[in-house]
Amino acid sequence: MNGSATDFTPHGRHLIAGDWVEGAATFRSDPASGPAFDYAVGTPHLVDRACVAAEEAFWTYGYIARAARADFLDTIADEIEARGPQITWIGTAETGLPAARLEGERGRTTGQLRLFAEHIRKGEYLDRRHDPALPERQPASRPDLWMVQRPIGPVAVFGASNFPLAFSTAGGDTASALAAGCPVVVKGHSAHPGTGEIVAEAIKAAVDKTGMPKGVFSLIQGGKRDVGQALVQHPLIKAVGFTGSLGGGRALFDLCAQRSEPIPFFGELGSINPMFLLPEAMSARGAEIGAGWAGSLTMGAGQFCTNPGIAVVLEKDADTLAEAAKAALSDVGAQVMLTDGIASAYRDGVERVSNGTGVREVLTSMCNQRDATPFLFMVSGKDWLGNHALGDEVFGPLGLIVTVKDEAEMLKVAHSFEGQLTATLHMDDGDAELGRKLLPIIERKAGRLLANGFPTGVEVCDTMVHGGPYPASTNFGATSVGTLAIRRFLRPVCYQNLPGALLPEDLR
Ligand code: NAP
Repeated sequence: MNGSATDFTPHGRHLIAGDWVEGAATFRSDPASGPAFDYAVGTPHLVDRACVAAEEAFWTYGYIARAARADFLDTIADEIEARGPQITWIGTAETGLPAARLEGERGRTTGQLRLFAEHIRKGEYLDRRHDPALPERQPASRPDLWMVQRPIGPVAVFGASNFPLAFSTAGGDTASALAAGCPVVVKGHSAHPGTGEIVAEAIKAAVDKTGMPKGVFSLIQGGKRDVGQALVQHPLIKAVGFTGSLGGGRALFDLCAQRSEPIPFFGELGSINPMFLLPEAMSARGAEIGAGWAGSLTMGAGQFCTNPGIAVVLEKDADTLAEAAKAALSDVGAQVMLTDGIASAYRDGVERVSNGTGVREVLTSMCNQRDATPFLFMVSGKDWLGNHALGDEVFGPLGLIVTVKDEAEMLKVAHSFEGQLTATLHMDDGDAELGRKLLPIIERKAGRLLANGFPTGVEVCDTMVHGGPYPASTNFGATSVGTLAIRRFLRPVCYQNLPGALLPEDLR
């Protein structure tokens, strides 16, 4: 495609197994800037059509050589790149995120697709095992046993509002499911339907170029809640990938569990990513830590699942942190949020925290309509421990300093957290003893532990874990970022005494 950014005018249709399909009803997009467009509203009937096509495609796609699937993933990446200017144009208009962010996210998305292509070419993820037959073994012989990971079947993916590319139509969930050998049905996020459409167009082009079965990918635009509900309940869907709110994710998770055949729901729901600021580090560079925290807290208007919303610090160090963070946050102006709904949820969150018992204001600001401005609050460890609701995620640039009177109270506060995506220690050598006491506690709480850094900015690689105990994720054994994400869409199968000719290609 390439050409000028504004070459792209969305037609507003769903992509169902290679066909662009109109809807009986439409909804109008609500971009942060630029023109609004009409998009077809999804229906349970269209969900059924896409799922039936996905199941049909599985009988081919789930069995083709890994090299062919890898070429398909690489071609999707190429096709996304070919539409770079148009994706940035529609993405910035719909989400209000700056062009540099959309461009960076596009690189992450194509990098992720290529990483999965390389990962499946190598084949280590298959975890192939063989226990050869022991016919002479006493008292009983052992049969010949092979094991390999196989794809599970059609997967449903929900596009995330805060990552219109890297966690949406061709994002990490889609890339890992396609890499595993599973066809994908995406429910597009209604906050960025045009971005979803152009990325779906790139996937369609890749399907056509590489000769993949058409049902391997479908995109159904949102607009109504019954689309997502029908999708997770469809009997042909075998797993779900989701990033979004605790309320929405929990509702869909419950639907998955209530099915006559329950299926795994890999939801990433909410996290406040606590940081523990240990005394030696605070003495050496408390102001620097405060300024760094402010930068991480306000990145992308605070709309990151890894946003470090809570800083736990000894009372004696609290003022240093508060002053430095306040000074840095005061320089941050209003930033446009992804949707009106998210901006309004942010204001509700600010009000809820500010009304909490014992909560003091450090920095307040004014934010209207779809804008967010930073807020900073402080609360004692005792009041934090008495108010469980302060631990609920506020999606946006809000920071809460929890001041503890001593190390024992810091450990108690650490114990009080629910499951998190990340937990961070800021520490120097002299803090090692306290760090060693905190580590086993935070290890039980979070999927990723950091020292002397900030959790925003998630590396896509082999070792990454983006998940954690509930509510960070509904499935703590999994990650939604990094190559290990493929395991969500695989299941081990054991083959006992099967003739070689019948074993899966990957075992021959
Ligand atoms: P959301 O409301 O949970 O929506 C995510 C997706 O799920 C959308 O496709 C939505 O459909 C669908 N959905 C939600 N509830 C549903 C239900 N009961 N039945 C069927 N489908 C349902 O999340 P969001 O719109 O992205 O953002 C809202 C809030 O989510 C934010 O304010 C923030 O608190 C949180 N959030 C958290 C993270 C994180 O990483 N922790 C990321 C993004 C958002 P529609 O498009 O039709 O609404």
